Amino acid sequence: MKATSAPAPNQLAQPEVPNELLRLLVDRVQDYAIFALDPHGNILTWNSGAERLKGYSPDEIIGRHFSLFYTPEDVEAGKPARLLKVAKETGRVEDEGWRVRSDGARFWANVLITALRDDDGELIGFAKVTRDLTDRRAADERLRQSEERFRLLVQSVEDYAIYMLDPAGIITTWNPGAERIKGYSAEEIIGQHFSVFYTAEDLAAGKPANELVTATETGHYEEEGWRVRKDGSRFWANVVLTPIHRADGQIAGFAKVTRDLTQRRAADERALMDAQRIAAEEGARTAAEQRAQELRSLTEQLRAQTIELERRTIEAEAGNRSKSDFLAAMSHELRTPLNAIAGYAELMQAGVSGPLTEAQRDQLDRIQRSQRHLLGIINDILNFSRIEAGKVTYAIGPIVLQELIDGVIPMIQPQADKKRLRLSVTRCSPALMATADRSKVEQILLNLLSNAVKFTDEGGGISITCGTNADRVWLSVRDTGIGIPANQLESIFAPFTQVGRTFASPMEGTGLGLAISRDLARAMHGDLTAESREGEGSVFTLFLPRAGTT
Ligand code: ADP
Repeated sequence: MKATSAPAPNQLAQPEVPNELLRLLVDRVQDYAIFALDPHGNILTWNSGAERLKGYSPDEIIGRHFSLFYTPEDVEAGKPARLLKVAKETGRVEDEGWRVRSDGARFWANVLITALRDDDGELIGFAKVTRDLTDRRAADERLRQSEERFRLLVQSVEDYAIYMLDPAGIITTWNPGAERIKGYSAEEIIGQHFSVFYTAEDLAAGKPANELVTATETGHYEEEGWRVRKDGSRFWANVVLTPIHRADGQIAGFAKVTRDLTQRRAADERALMDAQRIAAEEGARTAAEQRAQELRSLTEQLRAQTIELERRTIEAEAGNRSKSDFLAAMSHELRTPLNAIAGYAELMQAGVSGPLTEAQRDQLDRIQRSQRHLLGIINDILNFSRIEAGKVTYAIGPIVLQELIDGVIPMIQPQADKKRLRLSVTRCSPALMATADRSKVEQILLNLLSNAVKFTDEGGGISITCGTNADRVWLSVRDTGIGIPANQLESIFAPFTQVGRTFASPMEGTGLGLAISRDLARAMHGDLTAESREGEGSVFTLFLPRAGTT
């Protein structure tokens, strides 16, 4: 105590403080244990603060070694002796650590040991001041634990980037969530400005700085927008920026929490696209339904038209039948008086009613020719109407073509001779046979030959050729006559058609011959065609099924 109570040389000007006052001061201090040790560490004095802190009364403790206050581990480690050694060598030593009360309870103490020396510098002991920091330590520990918990929390968050900025926007902390979302490791990014996360457009607009200003002024900044990862890719982020204030109100920095909403945005977009797709499908479905409806009504119309058509066909068929019936009846009625004309003409020609003059014979001749012509027309009409009405029967059988030709030639030869026309037949193979009705084929061939004679000028030629083509045989009648204009080649097969016929120049014939011939050919599964060059001649070809092939 002597060393501390003796006034230092530079304190001479201060008034002398009585020793009793100092003793009282030390003794009454409650919050500090203040006591003196001898050079070996034995306790010399004990104040009320020491009694309160450590639980010993002066009687119990004075004279004992101060290592009593240390934990067994510290004593084991030689800590009390070491502290005294340091104090002795350096003048003082400070320590914080666990100390033990008289009841064995521990408390956290701040300890200051000061070496006391006399005027000669001889160590006379130590002053020891101990303060109980248990409460403060507990508070510190709580704070530390809370900070640790918070740090662990932040560190374990992977879904959010949570990091701190200093007031200038430099990144000072980084969590795994930030690393995961933005792609930078803590070492890479700490120390950089947070503007590296922004797009070029946002940077050009000064967005990062504006966000710090808004956060500072309003205490909060939040937005959703595009941010950039380390690899340059963009992600849709929700960002919350909060300023952190120091005790004096100054900005200490900013806490930044960023969330990657790319997936949510993608999901939103998917939902939008789904909605659009569904709408489109719905539209397409409606259109398809409309189309189906149209088709249904079209089908309905078609069905109605078909029914109408069937009705008209039936009507037409009925009309056709009645027309054929009419023609048959009329032909029959006309033939009776015509036959009477023929009969009486023959009687007159035979001279039954007396001899005839030359003029009368000539006129009778004309009457007979006209009668035959008219009969021919009526027969044609009857024939045609019967074919059209399907009333003709066919006696189908094999026909040797050459035989058929040979049978027809004599019927036409006289007319050909009369016009001095050469009639030639290229002989057909006897094996060339058609399957047809002989009399119908004769009728067709005769019609073709008589047309050839009729439309070929004197001195011309007519030739008959035949042949086979796959399952058909053909028979051609060629002439060197007037020919048929190309635009009328088909119409000559229509009933009552005659080329160049006018009322002024009626030609012989009815215009029914070719129509009847083609109808007959087709009814026998054959055909009749024409080729011609006007002024050069015509070729009519009859096709018929080949015998043995059908
Ligand atoms: P028709 O001989 O009684 O007039 P067709 O039906 O036999 O009736 O012939 C129709 C028309 O075809 C003829 O009037 C004639 O104009 C034309 N025709 C037929 N055969 C020949 C032919 N060999 N040469 C030129 N014209 C022909």
